[in-house]
Amino acid sequence: MHIGFLGLGNMGGPMASNLLKAGHQLSVFDLSSQAVAELAEQGAQACDSLQTLVTGAPDIFISMLPAAAHVKGVYLGDDGVIQQLRKPTLLIDCSTIDPHSAREVAQAAQEAGHRMLDAPVSGGTSGAQAGTLTFMVGGSPEDLAQAQPVLEAMGKNITHCGDNGNGQVAKVANNMLLGISMIGVAEAMALGVSLGMDAKVLASIINTSSGRCWSSEINNPYPEVLEHAPANRGYSGGFGTDLMLKDLGLATEAAGLAKQPVMLGAAAQQLYQAFSLQGNGTLDFSAIIKLYLKE
Ligand code: NAD
Repeated sequence: MHIGFLGLGNMGGPMASNLLKAGHQLSVFDLSSQAVAELAEQGAQACDSLQTLVTGAPDIFISMLPAAAHVKGVYLGDDGVIQQLRKPTLLIDCSTIDPHSAREVAQAAQEAGHRMLDAPVSGGTSGAQAGTLTFMVGGSPEDLAQAQPVLEAMGKNITHCGDNGNGQVAKVANNMLLGISMIGVAEAMALGVSLGMDAKVLASIINTSSGRCWSSEINNPYPEVLEHAPANRGYSGGFGTDLMLKDLGLATEAAGLAKQPVMLGAAAQQLYQAFSLQGNGTLDFSAIIKLYLKE
C-alpha cells in the first residue's frame, strides 16, 4: 500500500512514523522541511511540494493539519488535492475540524470520483507515538474496511460513527464534555478545600462516588493530588488550553448551525477564552482551576 501523508506536526509526525514501522510505503510532505527530513531518515520518500506528493499517485492519502482553513485550502479548488490526485483515491482527513467543513470536503471529493473518510483522533501526542490513538470515523463502512489496516497501524480503537462528518461530530461532542467536566471538577475541588477538606481525600471520595470522571480521576486539576498529572508540574505538557479552546469553538459553531443550545459548552468556551487571554494558552487545560484558587 502506497500512502501519501500530509502534515507532519506533533501528531502527524509520529503517526507517519508508525505507518513506516508497519511496513507501508510512505511519501510525505509538510511546509516544514525539517519535519520532512526527519521522516525521510526513517525511510519515507521525501516530497519537496504538495504537487510532488499528489502526483506520486498514492493509493491512500492522509492529512493531519491544524484547522479547517488548512484542510479546505489544501483539498478544494482547481489546483487542490481532490482535483490533482489519481481517481479514485481513498482520502482520510485526521485533522480536528468542524463537521460542516468535513462534509463539504467529502462531498467535493465524492463528486470528483474519490472516496473520503473523516477520522479525527483522541489520545494526544503520547497516543500518536505509542500507536494507541482512538479514531472516530465518518464515511461509508466499505471505505473504512479498506482503511482499517492503515488506521490500525496508528491506533487501537477505531469506531465507525456514521456518515461523513460524524467522526468530527463525535470528536467535538466528547471534547466539549471534557472541557465542561474539567471546570466542574475544578469548581468542586476548590469548594471542598476552601471549606476545609484535604484535597487528596476529597479527590478519593469523588473518584469512588458519582462525581467521578476522567477530569477527576486521571487529570485532577488540584496540585499534588495525582503524581503524574500536569497539575503536579506547573500544568506543563498535557492538552493545551488553546487546543481545548479550539475544540470548544468547533462545538459551539456547529451547535449554532444546528440551532442546538449548548449552554454549558458556550460558558466553558468563554471561561477558557478569558483564561487564555491572561497568558495561559499553553498551559494544560486543567490549569483553569487557577480561576478558583485563593492565593
Ligand atoms: P501541529 O501544528 O503540530 O502540526 C500541523 C502540521 O501541519 C505542521 O507541521 C504544519 O507545518 C503542517 N501544515 C500546515 N499547513 C500545511 C500545508 N498547507 N501543507 C503542508 N503542511 C502543512 O498540529 P498537531 O498538534 O499535529 O495537530 C494536528 C491536528 O490534530 C489538529 O487538528 C489538532 O486539533 C488535532 N489533534 C491534536 C492533538 C494534540 O494533542 N496535539 C490531539 C488530538 C487531535
